[in-house]
Amino acid sequence: MNEPRKLFVKSFGCQMNVYDAQRMADILAPRGYVETGAAEAADLVILNTCHIREKAAEKVYSELGRLRRLKEEAAAAGRRLTIAVAGCVAQAEGEEIVRRAPAVDLVFGPQSYHRLPHLLARAAREGHAVDTDFPADDKFDALAPASPAAIRARGVTAFVTVQEGCDKFCTFCVVPYTRGAEVSRPVDKVVAEIERLAQAGVREVTLIGQNVNAYHGAGPDGRPWPLSRLLERVGSVGGIERLRYTTSHPRDMDDALIAAHRDLGKLMPQLHLPVQSGSDRILAAMNRRHTRADYLDVVGRLRAARADLALTSDFIVGFPGETEDDFAQTLSLVDEVGYAGAFSFKYSPRPGTPGAELKDQVDEEVKSRRLSRLQAAIDRHQETFNRRCVGRTFAVLFEKPGRHAGQLVGRSPYLQPVQVTAPAALRGTIAAVTITDVASNSLFGELVRARAQEAAVLGAGA
Ligand code: SF4
Repeated sequence: MNEPRKLFVKSFGCQMNVYDAQRMADILAPRGYVETGAAEAADLVILNTCHIREKAAEKVYSELGRLRRLKEEAAAAGRRLTIAVAGCVAQAEGEEIVRRAPAVDLVFGPQSYHRLPHLLARAAREGHAVDTDFPADDKFDALAPASPAAIRARGVTAFVTVQEGCDKFCTFCVVPYTRGAEVSRPVDKVVAEIERLAQAGVREVTLIGQNVNAYHGAGPDGRPWPLSRLLERVGSVGGIERLRYTTSHPRDMDDALIAAHRDLGKLMPQLHLPVQSGSDRILAAMNRRHTRADYLDVVGRLRAARADLALTSDFIVGFPGETEDDFAQTLSLVDEVGYAGAFSFKYSPRPGTPGAELKDQVDEEVKSRRLSRLQAAIDRHQETFNRRCVGRTFAVLFEKPGRHAGQLVGRSPYLQPVQVTAPAALRGTIAAVTITDVASNSLFGELVRARAQEAAVLGAGA
């Protein structure tokens, strides 16, 4: 039998890249590839890139410099190391990657990874291969299902892509260009994938898409189903105890989806709902297609449906033309909503997007100052939210070993990590935990049973 070949995938960016990286490993597993945690040991390294962060392409090229040296060392030792670049930077840069980094064997975009075995063979035959097409065949149809062992190794929570691409064309964003137009997977396919995950022990699924609440996949009745109906169907899969979805656009929060937060017990009370700015002028320049009032209206209706909903968001500061007054409106929106957390970034122009062409770019120093003020406000609200959890008892899904021996770490319904002293046997189960303390990004708690026993012992002497 041939020695297994070793695969190392380094994934950057969003949950969709994590999902894509797992699918690449699943496609290659039947071809004799096993995953390794070290690039040095690998026969194939895939950089699964993200274009969202600043200077994304430059970071990929510097990573490729390191991999070129690794490839030379492998060749000196008589081994062949194949280097592939995938994801959104691959889609945006295409042939340019092979031109600037000739050690790269293969470049392929997010819509081509189901052709990976074929592309690797082509690269071996022709010296290199580049595939950044948007093929007509359904990528998801061609994907290999993960084996039960691979699912178990990935843990009790899973991401499942239900929608991909975006038709919104926000002026700062590359997604409509790198991931293409909005496409939704049919309900049956999504359900079949989640049934397999549940059978292998997954307890929580997060339905993901660049614009997940624009979901409109074909239902078994042949009609397009909205996300609310898909969530209800997925919640009926035996073994699935928790549901989440991300990332949503405020314009696509329809009444049925808002009602699902009230009616669907398995849907966790947490929602990532990016707003980007609190100023109508900037929201219009960003082509967000909603105003501040529209956003606040959605938030109000969500909270009327589910009062304890924890909201998080994304913000961009220093979008071209942003004035102090625009920025002050972003700060006031943060106070008005009271987020449980948020990601915030300085605007940086992405080549090919309309925002990059705008004249009145904001000075870097101004952006940095605004970003630290915004982050301080977000941190304040996050701390308030977390502090309010102390003394409350949550159902925590234990996912993995904690920081210290004897600890497990799980997630609260609000997606906060919770560190608990708990037996390893509780991994993969949901248990009641009373929150005892908070740190900046996580909570600490005690198992309710353990607390009850301790109270009984203490009570015996009183
Ligand atoms: S809705 Fe999201 S993914 Fe679509 S263009 Fe806007 S920021 Fe990008």
